Amino acid sequence: MTAQDPAATNFSETIAYSTIGNVGVITIDNPPVNAGSASVRAGMLAAIEHLANDSGTMAGIIHCAGRTFVAGSDLKEFGKPLQEPQWPVVFAAIEACPKPVIAAIHGAALGGGYELALACDWRVATPDASVGLPETRLGMIPGAGGTQRLPRLTGINAAIDVIASGRHVKSPEALALQMIDAIAEGELLQFAVTFAQSEGQQKRPAASLNVPAETPEQIEQAASTALKKNKNRANIVLAIETIKLALTTPFDDALQQERAAFQTLRTSEEAAALRYNFFAERAAAKFGDIDGTPQKLDLIGVIGGGTMGAGIATMLCASGYRTLLVDTDAKAIERARTQIDKALTDLEKFGKLGLALSAARGNLELSQDFNAIAPADLVIEAVFEDMAVKTDVMTRLGATMRPGAIIASNTSYLDINALAATSGRPAQFLGLHFFAPVPRMRLLEVVRCAQTDPDTLRTGLALGKAIGKLPILAGPCEGFIGNRIYAQYRAQCEYMLEEGALPEQVDRAIEKLGFSMGPFAVADLSGLDIAWRNRQRKAATRDPRTRYVTIPDMICELGRLGRKTGAGWYTYGDTAPGGTPDPIVTDIVRQAASEHGATGELDEKTIQHRALGAIVNEAALLLEDGMARSAAEIDLVLVNGYGFSKFLGGPLFLASRLPAAEIKAMIDAVETATGFGFRRGDVAAMLKTIG
Ligand code: NAD
Repeated sequence: MTAQDPAATNFSETIAYSTIGNVGVITIDNPPVNAGSASVRAGMLAAIEHLANDSGTMAGIIHCAGRTFVAGSDLKEFGKPLQEPQWPVVFAAIEACPKPVIAAIHGAALGGGYELALACDWRVATPDASVGLPETRLGMIPGAGGTQRLPRLTGINAAIDVIASGRHVKSPEALALQMIDAIAEGELLQFAVTFAQSEGQQKRPAASLNVPAETPEQIEQAASTALKKNKNRANIVLAIETIKLALTTPFDDALQQERAAFQTLRTSEEAAALRYNFFAERAAAKFGDIDGTPQKLDLIGVIGGGTMGAGIATMLCASGYRTLLVDTDAKAIERARTQIDKALTDLEKFGKLGLALSAARGNLELSQDFNAIAPADLVIEAVFEDMAVKTDVMTRLGATMRPGAIIASNTSYLDINALAATSGRPAQFLGLHFFAPVPRMRLLEVVRCAQTDPDTLRTGLALGKAIGKLPILAGPCEGFIGNRIYAQYRAQCEYMLEEGALPEQVDRAIEKLGFSMGPFAVADLSGLDIAWRNRQRKAATRDPRTRYVTIPDMICELGRLGRKTGAGWYTYGDTAPGGTPDPIVTDIVRQAASEHGATGELDEKTIQHRALGAIVNEAALLLEDGMARSAAEIDLVLVNGYGFSKFLGGPLFLASRLPAAEIKAMIDAVETATGFGFRRGDVAAMLKTIG
């Protein structure tokens, strides 16, 4: 440890000043992540003024207590007017301070935290630190000089890449890009003191540097790559325009333009939606009574090597788990081997594999012998969605695996409590419901069955996180969170066909609402046969008073089972890979609508209201039934598993912005259309919980 002056002076509750020899040390201590809140900014301003006047010092260091440098701004402040002093004033004081100031970075310096480092004259960092400006990921641009200081250090190209991607840059790359000036050897603070007394003796504000020369072609290339990757989002367009001001506009003028753009974006609906998702993800990662140390998993088994089993095994191997995949069908094993190999190669190609490809492949073993599963610490079952097949598998797993080992099922709709019972170990049983394609879909519903014990749940949640998924806790109801809502929403969309809407009209309206695909295009993609079989299975027990739309059955009876058969709700061909509306389907729908007494068409707003009404009502019921923990987590499910735009926050967030009377009218319309069996949730109470 370095001998620091014990007589530290506090400039606010989070900022202290002390000296080491002839160097002033400003320490930020604002747990947990040293966010740049109002107290940090005010204390920093006072401490810099003190440093400037402290005759015993020749330089200053800014560093942080705890596990990280300033890891960002306090996002909770972003929804309201910002308190003074704001960062730009503090940064101007650092630049105006006659003594050089050195940022000593450990952990992460992100957003306002890295802008603080950029306002210093020099930056030193530990070898494992990371720096970056992730504001664009939250719908904004850096607002405290990041767009002007960074290009003066790195050049315009690198600044566009770093700011538009929002990525975290690790120390070695940051040094190569000149985002930092040195990587610390030994203890960080001691290294920073030595640096201050040697290379760092000169004042060197980024504002005084010239932007490194690059050709206009190089800059245009970087800009067009960033725009393409971000689908021309408005904040990225603005970020690039603002970065380019570094070439044409005096520093102070450019700072003002940057701040104005930042303030506009900060208060936009899109930024509010992205912040909402950000906080929802943070809350979703906390489990209260279940938090703690999970079980160690040396070997994980997967039963069933079809679409899902192979996808799950891919992510396990890619995340460093020894994985044993068992399938009773030799051909399925070979298909799984090929699928996993290709998926791992793709992950590597796109830079998403954290270990060597050979090591990831080496984690996989495949077997046709069920007994090989015996030593596994956890097994994920992904066999056919058939109660008899799954019951047999669960009974055998319960008998084969060691006591205490965990069994998880990937079932979508079957009675998971019944499956838990057949395993003979309901306390060590849970649902791990993945989404297809597994390597790409972030969502994982972690299902707490009636008797799942905390240790099992904790281990399942930790595994989900370790393989890069977003685990959301769900209860053991039919369809869990996502599919239960989706079933109501899809039924509502089918009702609308009988009321005068065509599939393509519904799909278009739903896409404008915020889903990446409408329900009929989605059905064609997944295949219409599974739902058809389901309907046939339930036909005998369906209450005759329940509204039932026969159009999907008529489509299936024509052999139109979706994309895989070249036709479903749409017709597919080489010239129309996305599908085109088909007169045969139009005739069937129009005929059914006329029999149902429909007199006209449904407009876009009506379609959107009905779909949204069905979603929010079922979401409220899920909360009332204790099957989901919060409205925000339900939105995370719909954003990360069902293609709703994160830029809109989620369907519930969207609804929370609408007047109460409009919401009530929506639910009334859903009730009238549904008729028998409709259950109304307390939607107003749920929407009030959304900030
Ligand atoms: P699939 O038909 O592609 O694969 C099932 C595999 O299980 C086949 O390879 C089969 O040979 C194997 N199998 C069958 N009985 C077996 C047994 N007794 N022992 C070992 N292997 C056996 O099915 P899928 O689409 O991968 O779905 C698997 C599970 O995942 C189902 O419960 C399904 O509901 C669920 N799920 C599917 C999706 C999806 O989009 N496909 C999404 C989420 C969950």
